[in-house]
Amino acid sequence: MCDSTVCVVKCNSYDSDEVKNSFDRLLSPIGGLDFVKKGMKVAVKVNLVTAIKPEKAATTHPALVLELCRRLIELGAEVTVGDSPGGPFTGIYLKGVYSATGMRRVCDVGARLNDDFSSTVCDSFPDAVKLKSFEYTSWLSSADVIINFAKLKTHGMMGMSAAVKNMFGAIPGTLKPEYHYRFSNSRDFADMLIDIDEFFKPALSIVDGVDAMEGNGPTMGDVRHVGILAASKNVYDLDTVCASVISLTPDRVPTCALAIERGLGHSAKEIRAVGDGVGISICDFKNIDRPNDIEFFGGLIGIKGKLANKFLKSALCTRPTLSRGCVGCRKCADVCPAGAISMKDKKPRIDREKCIRCFCCQEFCPKGAMTVHRPLAARALAKIR
Ligand code: SF4
Ligand code: SF4
Repeated sequence: MCDSTVCVVKCNSYDSDEVKNSFDRLLSPIGGLDFVKKGMKVAVKVNLVTAIKPEKAATTHPALVLELCRRLIELGAEVTVGDSPGGPFTGIYLKGVYSATGMRRVCDVGARLNDDFSSTVCDSFPDAVKLKSFEYTSWLSSADVIINFAKLKTHGMMGMSAAVKNMFGAIPGTLKPEYHYRFSNSRDFADMLIDIDEFFKPALSIVDGVDAMEGNGPTMGDVRHVGILAASKNVYDLDTVCASVISLTPDRVPTCALAIERGLGHSAKEIRAVGDGVGISICDFKNIDRPNDIEFFGGLIGIKGKLANKFLKSALCTRPTLSRGCVGCRKCADVCPAGAISMKDKKPRIDREKCIRCFCCQEFCPKGAMTVHRPLAARALAKIR
Protein backbone atom coordinates (compact mmCIF):
# COMPACT_ATOMS: atom_id res chain seq x y z
CA MET A 1 0.00 0.00 0.00
CA CYS A 2 1.45 3.41 -0.91
CA ASP A 3 2.09 6.39 1.38
CA SER A 4 -1.01 7.48 3.30
CA THR A 5 -0.16 11.19 3.30
CA VAL A 6 -2.92 13.44 1.99
CA CYS A 7 -2.34 17.16 1.63
CA VAL A 8 -5.30 19.57 1.80
CA VAL A 9 -4.72 23.28 1.23
CA LYS A 10 -6.94 26.32 1.07
CA CYS A 11 -7.52 27.76 -2.39
CA ASN A 12 -10.34 30.24 -2.58
CA SER A 13 -10.40 31.09 -6.27
CA TYR A 14 -9.15 30.14 -9.70
CA ASP A 15 -7.12 33.34 -9.90
CA SER A 16 -3.68 32.45 -11.32
CA ASP A 17 -1.62 33.88 -8.42
CA GLU A 18 -3.72 32.10 -5.82
CA VAL A 19 -3.60 28.85 -7.80
CA LYS A 20 0.19 29.06 -8.12
CA ASN A 21 0.61 29.71 -4.42
CA SER A 22 -1.78 26.89 -3.48
CA PHE A 23 0.03 24.42 -5.74
CA ASP A 24 3.34 25.19 -3.96
CA ARG A 25 1.76 24.32 -0.61
CA LEU A 26 -0.15 21.35 -2.04
CA LEU A 27 2.67 19.45 -3.69
CA SER A 28 5.69 19.90 -1.43
CA PRO A 29 4.44 17.78 1.54
CA ILE A 30 3.82 14.81 -0.79
CA GLY A 31 7.16 14.95 -2.57
CA GLY A 32 6.26 17.43 -5.30
CA LEU A 33 6.53 16.16 -8.86
CA ASP A 34 9.71 14.25 -8.03
CA PHE A 35 8.64 11.25 -10.12
CA VAL A 36 8.64 13.31 -13.34
CA LYS A 37 11.82 13.11 -15.41
CA LYS A 38 12.91 14.98 -18.55
CA GLY A 39 11.35 13.51 -21.70
CA MET A 40 8.74 11.52 -19.78
CA LYS A 41 5.27 11.21 -21.29
CA VAL A 42 2.71 12.35 -18.72
CA ALA A 43 -1.04 11.82 -19.19
CA VAL A 44 -3.17 14.22 -17.16
CA LYS A 45 -6.54 12.52 -16.77
CA VAL A 46 -9.00 15.31 -16.03
CA ASN A 47 -12.77 15.18 -15.53
CA LEU A 48 -14.52 16.35 -18.71
CA VAL A 49 -17.84 14.68 -18.04
CA THR A 50 -19.64 16.64 -20.75
CA ALA A 51 -19.46 19.83 -22.83
CA ILE A 52 -20.13 22.29 -20.01
CA LYS A 53 -18.59 25.56 -18.87
CA PRO A 54 -16.04 25.41 -16.03
CA GLU A 55 -18.20 27.78 -13.92
CA LYS A 56 -20.78 25.00 -13.56
CA ALA A 57 -18.31 22.98 -11.44
CA ALA A 58 -18.88 19.68 -13.28
CA THR A 59 -15.36 19.47 -14.73
CA THR A 60 -11.80 19.97 -13.51
CA HIS A 61 -11.15 23.71 -13.72
CA PRO A 62 -8.79 24.66 -16.58
CA ALA A 63 -6.89 27.22 -14.47
CA LEU A 64 -5.70 24.39 -12.21
CA VAL A 65 -4.86 22.05 -15.07
CA LEU A 66 -2.93 24.89 -16.72
CA GLU A 67 -0.83 25.37 -13.58
CA LEU A 68 -0.07 21.65 -13.31
CA CYS A 69 0.86 21.46 -17.01
CA ARG A 70 3.12 24.50 -16.70
CA ARG A 71 5.07 22.78 -13.91
CA LEU A 72 5.30 19.50 -15.81
CA ILE A 73 6.54 21.21 -18.98
CA GLU A 74 9.17 23.08 -16.93
CA LEU A 75 10.43 19.69 -15.78
CA GLY A 76 10.81 18.63 -19.42
CA ALA A 77 7.78 16.33 -19.63
CA GLU A 78 5.63 15.77 -22.71
CA VAL A 79 2.14 16.42 -21.40
CA THR A 80 -1.18 15.21 -22.80
CA VAL A 81 -4.49 16.19 -21.22
CA GLY A 82 -7.61 14.13 -21.87
CA ASP A 83 -10.69 12.20 -20.83
CA SER A 84 -13.46 10.12 -22.35
CA PRO A 85 -16.76 11.80 -21.43
CA GLY A 86 -20.15 10.11 -21.65
CA GLY A 87 -20.77 10.02 -25.41
CA PRO A 88 -18.76 9.04 -28.47
CA PHE A 89 -15.00 9.00 -27.99
CA THR A 90 -14.28 10.79 -31.26
CA GLY A 91 -12.38 13.85 -32.40
CA ILE A 92 -15.55 15.70 -33.40
CA TYR A 93 -17.25 15.14 -30.04
CA LEU A 94 -14.16 15.92 -27.98
CA LYS A 95 -13.54 19.12 -29.96
CA GLY A 96 -16.76 20.56 -28.51
CA VAL A 97 -15.95 19.28 -25.01
CA TYR A 98 -12.42 20.78 -25.03
CA SER A 99 -13.82 24.15 -26.10
CA ALA A 100 -16.76 24.29 -23.69
CA THR A 101 -14.71 23.23 -20.66
CA GLY A 102 -11.97 25.80 -21.35
CA MET A 103 -9.40 23.01 -21.61
CA ARG A 104 -7.83 24.47 -24.76
CA ARG A 105 -5.95 26.86 -22.44
CA VAL A 106 -3.45 24.11 -21.59
CA CYS A 107 -2.02 24.39 -25.09
CA ASP A 108 -0.76 27.89 -24.14
CA VAL A 109 1.96 26.33 -21.98
CA GLY A 110 2.91 23.57 -24.43
CA ALA A 111 0.66 20.72 -23.33
CA ARG A 112 -1.47 18.96 -25.91
CA LEU A 113 -5.04 17.78 -25.82
CA ASN A 114 -5.48 14.09 -26.47
CA ASP A 115 -6.20 13.31 -30.12
CA ASP A 116 -5.82 9.53 -29.96
CA PHE A 117 -9.34 8.14 -29.90
CA SER A 118 -8.45 4.49 -30.26
CA SER A 119 -9.08 1.86 -27.61
CA THR A 120 -7.18 -1.18 -26.36
CA VAL A 121 -8.48 -4.47 -25.00
CA CYS A 122 -6.99 -5.89 -21.83
CA ASP A 123 -7.71 -9.63 -22.11
CA SER A 124 -6.57 -10.55 -18.65
CA PHE A 125 -6.22 -8.55 -15.44
CA PRO A 126 -5.77 -11.31 -12.81
CA ASP A 127 -5.49 -8.92 -9.86
CA ALA A 128 -8.98 -7.55 -10.49
CA VAL A 129 -11.88 -8.40 -8.23
CA LYS A 130 -14.49 -7.68 -10.92
CA LEU A 131 -12.84 -6.35 -14.06
CA LYS A 132 -10.92 -9.37 -15.32
CA SER A 133 -10.97 -8.10 -18.91
CA PHE A 134 -11.98 -4.75 -20.32
CA GLU A 135 -11.53 -2.15 -23.02
CA TYR A 136 -9.93 1.22 -22.30
CA THR A 137 -8.80 4.38 -24.06
CA SER A 138 -5.33 3.80 -25.51
CA TRP A 139 -3.88 7.26 -24.82
CA LEU A 140 -3.52 6.38 -21.13
CA SER A 141 -1.37 3.33 -21.79
CA SER A 142 0.98 5.24 -24.08
CA ALA A 143 2.02 7.47 -21.16
CA ASP A 144 4.89 6.75 -18.76
CA VAL A 145 2.89 8.09 -15.83
CA ILE A 146 -0.69 9.19 -15.20
CA ILE A 147 -1.75 12.13 -13.07
CA ASN A 148 -5.39 11.83 -12.06
CA PHE A 149 -6.96 15.32 -11.74
CA ALA A 150 -10.54 15.05 -10.51
CA LYS A 151 -13.44 17.30 -9.49
CA LEU A 152 -15.26 17.06 -6.16
CA LYS A 153 -18.93 16.32 -6.81
CA THR A 154 -21.95 14.40 -5.61
CA HIS A 155 -22.80 11.23 -7.51
CA GLY A 156 -26.13 9.37 -7.71
CA MET A 157 -24.74 5.86 -7.51
CA MET A 158 -21.43 6.27 -5.61
CA GLY A 159 -22.40 9.12 -3.30
CA MET A 160 -19.31 11.08 -4.25
CA SER A 161 -17.30 11.55 -7.42
CA ALA A 162 -13.69 12.47 -6.74
CA ALA A 163 -10.33 10.79 -7.50
CA VAL A 164 -11.30 7.08 -7.57
CA LYS A 165 -14.39 7.58 -9.75
CA ASN A 166 -12.47 9.88 -12.11
CA MET A 167 -10.53 6.94 -13.58
CA PHE A 168 -13.82 5.55 -14.98
CA GLY A 169 -13.07 8.02 -17.78
CA ALA A 170 -10.55 5.43 -18.99
CA ILE A 171 -13.52 3.51 -20.38
CA PRO A 172 -14.66 4.74 -23.83
CA GLY A 173 -17.84 6.81 -23.35
CA THR A 174 -20.22 4.65 -25.36
CA LEU A 175 -19.20 1.54 -23.37
CA LYS A 176 -19.93 3.10 -19.97
CA PRO A 177 -23.65 2.19 -19.91
CA GLU A 178 -22.65 -1.46 -20.52
CA TYR A 179 -20.37 -1.36 -17.46
CA HIS A 180 -23.25 0.04 -15.42
CA TYR A 181 -25.33 -2.92 -16.55
CA ARG A 182 -22.62 -5.50 -15.87
CA PHE A 183 -21.90 -4.08 -12.40
CA SER A 184 -25.38 -3.02 -11.48
CA ASN A 185 -25.21 -2.93 -7.71
CA SER A 186 -23.17 -0.31 -5.96
CA ARG A 187 -20.71 -2.75 -4.38
CA ASP A 188 -19.84 -4.39 -7.70
CA PHE A 189 -19.62 -1.02 -9.39
CA ALA A 190 -17.29 0.30 -6.67
CA ASP A 191 -15.10 -2.81 -6.92
CA MET A 192 -14.94 -2.31 -10.69
CA LEU A 193 -13.86 1.33 -10.22
CA ILE A 194 -11.14 0.26 -7.79
CA ASP A 195 -9.96 -2.34 -10.32
CA ILE A 196 -9.56 0.44 -12.90
CA ASP A 197 -7.51 2.51 -10.45
CA GLU A 198 -5.38 -0.55 -9.66
CA PHE A 199 -4.80 -1.18 -13.36
CA PHE A 200 -3.67 2.36 -14.15
CA LYS A 201 -2.12 3.19 -10.76
CA PRO A 202 -1.96 6.99 -11.14
CA ALA A 203 1.33 8.32 -9.77
CA LEU A 204 -0.45 11.28 -8.23
CA SER A 205 -4.09 12.21 -7.73
CA ILE A 206 -5.40 15.74 -7.21
CA VAL A 207 -8.94 16.88 -6.43
CA ASP A 208 -10.33 20.27 -7.43
CA GLY A 209 -12.54 21.23 -4.50
CA VAL A 210 -12.31 24.99 -4.96
CA ASP A 211 -15.84 25.13 -6.33
CA ALA A 212 -17.46 21.73 -5.84
CA MET A 213 -20.84 20.42 -6.97
CA GLU A 214 -23.60 19.63 -4.47
CA GLY A 215 -27.18 18.40 -4.96
CA ASN A 216 -28.05 16.84 -8.32
CA GLY A 217 -24.45 15.92 -9.31
CA PRO A 218 -22.35 14.91 -11.13
CA THR A 219 -23.47 17.14 -14.02
CA MET A 220 -26.50 19.25 -13.09
CA GLY A 221 -26.04 20.02 -9.40
CA ASP A 222 -25.35 23.38 -7.80
CA VAL A 223 -22.00 25.07 -7.42
CA ARG A 224 -20.81 25.06 -3.83
CA HIS A 225 -17.71 26.97 -2.85
CA VAL A 226 -15.55 24.73 -0.66
CA GLY A 227 -12.17 26.41 -1.16
CA ILE A 228 -9.74 23.47 -1.08
CA LEU A 229 -7.32 21.53 -3.24
CA ALA A 230 -6.30 18.04 -2.10
CA ALA A 231 -3.62 15.67 -3.37
CA SER A 232 -2.05 12.33 -2.54
CA LYS A 233 -0.15 9.44 -4.06
CA ASN A 234 -2.81 7.16 -2.54
CA VAL A 235 -6.00 7.72 -4.54
CA TYR A 236 -8.20 5.95 -1.95
CA ASP A 237 -6.96 7.89 1.05
CA LEU A 238 -7.40 11.09 -0.93
CA ASP A 239 -11.09 10.25 -1.44
CA THR A 240 -11.59 9.37 2.21
CA VAL A 241 -10.29 12.83 3.14
CA CYS A 242 -12.40 14.51 0.42
CA ALA A 243 -15.47 12.68 1.72
CA SER A 244 -14.89 14.15 5.18
CA VAL A 245 -14.63 17.64 3.64
CA ILE A 246 -18.21 17.28 2.36
CA SER A 247 -19.36 15.60 5.59
CA LEU A 248 -19.51 12.04 4.31
CA THR A 249 -18.15 9.06 6.21
CA PRO A 250 -16.41 6.27 4.23
CA ASP A 251 -19.35 3.91 4.77
CA ARG A 252 -21.50 6.26 2.65
CA VAL A 253 -19.01 6.13 -0.24
CA PRO A 254 -18.68 2.50 -1.44
CA THR A 255 -15.31 3.08 -3.14
CA CYS A 256 -13.83 4.34 0.15
CA ALA A 257 -15.31 1.51 2.23
CA LEU A 258 -14.22 -1.20 -0.22
CA ALA A 259 -10.72 0.22 -0.67
CA ILE A 260 -10.23 -0.09 3.10
CA GLU A 261 -11.71 -3.61 3.03
CA ARG A 262 -9.35 -4.60 0.17
CA GLY A 263 -6.35 -3.27 2.08
CA LEU A 264 -5.67 -0.52 -0.46
CA GLY A 265 -6.81 2.46 1.57
CA HIS A 266 -6.50 3.50 5.20
CA SER A 267 -9.19 4.43 7.68
CA ALA A 268 -9.58 8.15 8.38
CA LYS A 269 -7.65 7.74 11.65
CA GLU A 270 -4.66 6.13 9.94
CA ILE A 271 -4.35 8.73 7.18
CA ARG A 272 -1.67 11.36 7.66
CA ALA A 273 -3.50 14.56 6.67
CA VAL A 274 -1.34 17.68 6.31
CA GLY A 275 -1.83 21.23 5.03
CA ASP A 276 -3.67 24.38 6.04
CA GLY A 277 -6.98 22.98 4.76
CA VAL A 278 -7.06 20.02 7.14
CA GLY A 279 -10.21 20.12 9.26
CA ILE A 280 -12.35 21.99 6.72
CA SER A 281 -15.72 20.28 6.65
CA ILE A 282 -18.88 21.68 5.09
CA CYS A 283 -21.56 20.40 7.45
CA ASP A 284 -24.53 21.52 5.32
CA PHE A 285 -23.14 20.26 1.99
CA LYS A 286 -26.11 18.86 0.04
CA ASN A 287 -25.20 15.23 -0.52
CA ILE A 288 -27.20 12.62 -2.41
CA ASP A 289 -28.70 9.81 -0.39
CA ARG A 290 -27.08 6.75 -1.85
CA PRO A 291 -29.35 3.86 -2.90
CA ASN A 292 -29.76 0.75 -0.79
CA ASP A 293 -28.31 -2.31 -2.45
CA ILE A 294 -30.64 -4.70 -4.18
CA GLU A 295 -29.14 -7.64 -2.23
CA PHE A 296 -30.79 -6.19 0.85
CA PHE A 297 -33.89 -8.09 -0.27
CA GLY A 298 -32.06 -11.27 -1.24
CA GLY A 299 -33.37 -13.38 1.64
CA LEU A 300 -36.97 -13.13 0.47
CA ILE A 301 -38.02 -15.96 -1.83
CA GLY A 302 -41.20 -17.36 -3.43
CA ILE A 303 -44.29 -15.39 -4.49
CA LYS A 304 -44.68 -13.74 -1.09
CA GLY A 305 -41.03 -12.88 -1.18
CA LYS A 306 -41.40 -11.36 -4.63
CA LEU A 307 -44.34 -9.24 -3.50
CA ALA A 308 -42.48 -8.18 -0.40
CA ASN A 309 -39.47 -7.35 -2.54
CA LYS A 310 -41.59 -5.24 -4.84
CA PHE A 311 -43.16 -3.38 -1.94
CA LEU A 312 -39.85 -2.84 -0.12
CA LYS A 313 -38.16 -1.70 -3.30
CA SER A 314 -40.77 0.94 -4.00
CA ALA A 315 -40.92 2.00 -0.35
CA LEU A 316 -37.22 2.09 0.40
CA CYS A 317 -35.10 2.29 -2.74
CA THR A 318 -33.65 5.51 -3.99
CA ARG A 319 -34.68 5.94 -7.62
CA PRO A 320 -34.51 8.29 -10.58
CA THR A 321 -37.53 10.56 -10.79
CA LEU A 322 -38.65 12.97 -13.47
CA SER A 323 -38.75 16.51 -12.13
CA ARG A 324 -39.44 19.80 -13.88
CA GLY A 325 -37.62 20.99 -16.99
CA CYS A 326 -37.84 17.93 -19.26
CA VAL A 327 -37.63 18.91 -22.93
CA GLY A 328 -38.23 15.41 -24.29
CA CYS A 329 -34.78 15.04 -25.84
CA ARG A 330 -34.78 11.25 -25.03
CA LYS A 331 -31.10 11.29 -24.01
CA CYS A 332 -32.05 9.44 -20.80
CA ALA A 333 -33.77 6.69 -22.82
CA ASP A 334 -30.79 6.36 -25.16
CA VAL A 335 -28.26 6.11 -22.32
CA CYS A 336 -30.26 3.74 -20.05
CA PRO A 337 -28.26 0.47 -20.02
CA ALA A 338 -31.25 -1.56 -18.79
CA GLY A 339 -33.67 -0.38 -21.48
CA ALA A 340 -35.92 0.80 -18.65
CA ILE A 341 -36.94 4.12 -20.20
CA SER A 342 -39.49 4.54 -22.96
CA MET A 343 -40.80 7.82 -24.32
CA LYS A 344 -44.52 8.58 -24.24
CA ASP A 345 -45.92 11.93 -25.33
CA LYS A 346 -42.32 13.20 -25.42
CA LYS A 347 -41.79 12.37 -21.74
CA PRO A 348 -39.68 9.52 -20.32
CA ARG A 349 -41.46 6.66 -18.56
CA ILE A 350 -39.36 4.51 -16.24
CA ASP A 351 -40.08 0.80 -15.86
CA ARG A 352 -39.21 0.36 -12.17
CA GLU A 353 -38.86 -3.40 -12.55
CA LYS A 354 -36.15 -3.05 -15.14
CA CYS A 355 -34.36 -0.10 -13.51
CA ILE A 356 -31.00 -1.08 -12.00
CA ARG A 357 -30.53 2.34 -10.33
CA CYS A 358 -27.30 3.20 -12.07
CA PHE A 359 -28.41 6.87 -12.40
CA CYS A 360 -26.99 7.26 -15.90
CA CYS A 361 -30.27 8.99 -16.84
CA GLN A 362 -29.75 11.51 -14.05
CA GLU A 363 -26.08 11.99 -14.91
CA PHE A 364 -26.65 12.63 -18.59
CA CYS A 365 -29.92 14.59 -18.60
CA PRO A 366 -28.85 17.93 -20.11
CA LYS A 367 -31.64 19.82 -18.29
CA GLY A 368 -31.28 18.44 -14.77
CA ALA A 369 -34.84 17.13 -15.12
CA MET A 370 -34.01 13.63 -13.89
CA THR A 371 -33.24 13.70 -10.18
CA VAL A 372 -32.42 11.22 -7.42
CA HIS A 373 -35.41 10.62 -5.17
CA ARG A 374 -35.24 8.90 -1.81
CA PRO A 375 -38.64 7.79 -0.47
CA LEU A 376 -39.84 9.16 2.84
CA ALA A 377 -39.71 5.73 4.53
CA ALA A 378 -36.05 5.32 3.55
CA ARG A 379 -35.21 8.77 4.90
CA ALA A 380 -36.98 8.00 8.16
CA LEU A 381 -35.16 4.65 8.47
CA ALA A 382 -31.82 6.31 7.86
CA LYS A 383 -32.41 8.59 10.84
CA ILE A 384 -32.94 5.73 13.28
CA ARG A 385 -30.14 3.52 11.95
S1 SF4 B 1 -35.48 13.71 -18.57
FE1 SF4 B 1 -33.77 14.88 -19.40
S2 SF4 B 1 -32.73 13.47 -20.79
FE2 SF4 B 1 -34.78 12.61 -20.42
S3 SF4 B 1 -36.03 13.40 -22.07
FE3 SF4 B 1 -36.26 14.82 -20.37
S4 SF4 B 1 -34.72 16.40 -20.72
FE4 SF4 B 1 -34.16 14.67 -22.03
S1 SF4 C 1 -33.85 4.32 -15.54
FE1 SF4 C 1 -32.01 5.52 -15.07
S2 SF4 C 1 -31.28 4.63 -13.14
FE2 SF4 C 1 -32.73 3.16 -14.03
S3 SF4 C 1 -31.44 1.77 -15.23
FE3 SF4 C 1 -32.15 3.36 -16.62
S4 SF4 C 1 -30.50 4.89 -16.59
FE4 SF4 C 1 -30.18 3.56 -14.82
